[in-house]
Amino acid sequence: MSTLVFLEHHENELLKGALGVLLKAATLGDPDVAGAIAGSGVTPLAAEVGKFGAAKVYVADDERLADPLPQPRVDVIAQLVREQGFDTVLFAASVLAADVAAGVAARLDAGLNWDLVDIARRDGELVGTRPALGDSVYVEVGWSAPPRLALFRPGSFDPAATGGEAEVEPFTPAFEDFSFQATMTERAHEERAGPSIEDADVIVAGGRGLGGPENFKLVEDLAAALGGAVAATRAVVDAGWYPYAAQVGQTGKTVSPKLYVACGISGAIQHKVGMQSSGVIVAINKDRNAPIFEYSDLGVVGDLHEIVPKLTDLARQRQS
Ligand SMILES: Cc1cc2nc3c(=O)[nH]c(=O)nc-3n(C[C@H](O)[C@H](O)[C@H](O)COP(=O)(O)OP(=O)(O)OC[C@H]3O[C@@H](n4cnc5c(N)ncnc54)[C@H](O)[C@@H]3O)c2cc1C
Repeated sequence: MSTLVFLEHHENELLKGALGVLLKAATLGDPDVAGAIAGSGVTPLAAEVGKFGAAKVYVADDERLADPLPQPRVDVIAQLVREQGFDTVLFAASVLAADVAAGVAARLDAGLNWDLVDIARRDGELVGTRPALGDSVYVEVGWSAPPRLALFRPGSFDPAATGGEAEVEPFTPAFEDFSFQATMTERAHEERAGPSIEDADVIVAGGRGLGGPENFKLVEDLAAALGGAVAATRAVVDAGWYPYAAQVGQTGKTVSPKLYVACGISGAIQHKVGMQSSGVIVAINKDRNAPIFEYSDLGVVGDLHEIVPKLTDLARQRQS
C-alpha cells in the first residue's frame, strides 16, 4: 500500500483537517505515507509535514497554482499517482478538496468514497466508515480496485503533532491546457476574528429563537469568550440574518467540534445531520419539548436572552 494525502493550505497554513487525515493515514500500516502540497510560495509549509506522520512530501510550488482552483491541482495529484504508483489518495473535505478529489477520480477512472468519518485496514483491505440515512447508521464501504480515493468529513481526526521529519521533494507538474480554462475573477476576504466553523473546537450556533439579526451579537460574544466560531441554522440564513458560510446542516456544512452550543435552535433533522457528531452538545431553548433536547448532552430550558449573556460573563471570568 502506498498512500498520498492532499495537503490543502490557506493563508500560509496547512489546514488542520488535512493534517488529521495525514496522521490517520500513518496509522494504516504504510511506512511511506506521503503528502502533496500544491500552491505558489508554499515550499516553507513542507517543513512541518513530517510531524504529522509523512515520510515524504511532494511540493508543487508554481505561480500557476496561486489561485485555489481545482483542475491544476488535479494535474498534480493525478500525475503523482501515475508516476509514483500511489494506490490510495486521501482528502480532508472542503469545497476545494471535494472538487480536486472528484477531478482526480474522473481523470484516473478511480473510485471515490465520500463523507467518510473513519478508515481502517482489515485483513489487508482498506475499509471506510460512512454515516448514512441521515447519520442514523454507519455503513462500511470499500473499493473494488486501486487507486482508492477517499474524502473525509471535517473534524474526523485530531491533528496532534507527533514529531518526525519528512523528506521534501520538489515536483514539477505538467499542466493540461484545459486546466486553466476556469479562472479566478475575484477573491473576497471574510473578516473573522476566530477560527472557521470547519476548524473550531467550539461552535456557538444561533437560530430563529434569537429573535432578530441584531441578537447574533449574543452568540458572537459567547463564541469569542470560548475561543470558538459562530454557526447558524438555515432559517436565519434564509432570513438574511447571517451569511451562508456559517450554515450548518443538510444544505450547509457538516461540523464536528468538541463543543456545540445551540441557542434558540429547534433541532430539525436537517440541522441535526450537520452537527450531531459534535463531542458535547448543549442546547438552550425555551421550549422543553424542542426536538434538539432529544440529542443534546446538556439542555437548558429558558430564555436565551437571559442565559447566553450570563454564560458569556462566566466564560470571560474563567479566562481571566
Ligand atoms: C431540504 C431542506 C434542507 C434544509 N437544510 C437545512 C440546513 O442545512 N440547516 C438547517 O439548520 N436547516 C435546514 N433546513 C431547515 C430546517 O428544516 C428547519 O426549518 C431549521 O433548521 C429551523 O431553524 P431554527 O431552529 O433556527 O428555527 P425554528 O425551527 O423556528 O426554531 C427556533 C427555536 O427557538 C426557540 N426559541 C424561541 N425564542 C427563544 C428564546 N427567547 N430563548 C430560547 N429559545 C427560543 C423555539 O422554541 C424554537 O425551538 C432544511 C430544510 C429543508 C426542507
